[in-house]
Amino acid sequence: MLRTVADVVSAAERLWPLRGAEEWDAPGLVSGDPLAPVERVLLAVDAVATTVDEAVERDAQLLLVHHPLLMRGVTTVAESTAKGALLSRLIRGGCALYAAHTNADVVESGTSARLAELLQVAGSRPIAPSSEHSERGLGRAGRLAEPMTLEAFARRVASILPATVGGVRVAGDPDRIVRTVAVCGGAGDSLLGARLVREADVYVTADLRHHPASEAVESALVAGGPALVDVSHWASESLWLATAADELRAALPGLEVVVSDRRTDPWSFLIVHESPETPARERHP
Ligand SMILES: [Zn+2]
Repeated sequence: MLRTVADVVSAAERLWPLRGAEEWDAPGLVSGDPLAPVERVLLAVDAVATTVDEAVERDAQLLLVHHPLLMRGVTTVAESTAKGALLSRLIRGGCALYAAHTNADVVESGTSARLAELLQVAGSRPIAPSSEHSERGLGRAGRLAEPMTLEAFARRVASILPATVGGVRVAGDPDRIVRTVAVCGGAGDSLLGARLVREADVYVTADLRHHPASEAVESALVAGGPALVDVSHWASESLWLATAADELRAALPGLEVVVSDRRTDPWSFLIVHESPETPARERHP
C-alpha cells in the first residue's frame, strides 16, 4: 500500500499528540511535501550531517528525528549555514523531515518510559504529570524489584546504553542502597526539585551542569535526596527509537522503518587526567 508523508505524519501525531508538547517546543513536519510517497522512514535522535547523509544514502523518503532542527526564528536557509545545508540536502534527496520531541517524551511509551523499562523500574509514573492526562508527563519514577547498590545500579545504566565518550557519571556513595528510581531522558535538571525526584534514591538524566548538580548534592546532605547519574543526552534518548519504530510499523503495516546506526553524541574523546611529567614548555612550545 502506497503511503504518503501525510500518512506518516498523521500516524505520528496519533502516537505522539502535538498538544502534549511543551509550549516552547516545535515538533511536527519541518520540510517535505505531504503528498509525496513514502516507502522507507529513517529514525534518528538528531538531524545532523551524518544522519541526513544516511537518510539520503538509504533512500529514505522521510527522516523522523527527536530533536526539532528549527526551534527559533530563522532568516536564512542558505547552504553556507549548517541548518540550511542539511535542509537543502534533504530536499534535494527527496527526503522529508519530521520531529517528535517533548510530545514523544510525555507519552506512556516515551523516552523516559523506555529508559525506566530498560532499567527494570516497575510501576513507573510521570514525575511531572500533564494537567489533562495524569498518566502522561515528563520523566518517570518507580521502584526496582530488588534493592541494589548505587554502583551496581550505575553499571546497569551503563549496560543498557550505547557506549559514549562521557560514559556514566555518578554523584553519591557507591555503596548506597537504591530502590526508588527517577529517570528523565535528555536534559532533566528542570525536574531536580520535583517531589518524585527528591524522594527517589537515585535520579538518572543527562546534561547535568555544575551548579544544579552541586546544589542537589549539597541539599541531599542536609535534607535527603537522590544520588545523581548523569549520562549522554543522545544515548538516553536513542533507546526510544526502537520503540518508536515498532509503533510506526504497527500503525502503518508495510512501511519500512529503519533505526539509524549513527551516533550523534557530539563528543569525540575524553582525557580524564594527564600526568604533568612532561614539562609544560615541551607540551606547549
Ligand atoms: Zn533531547
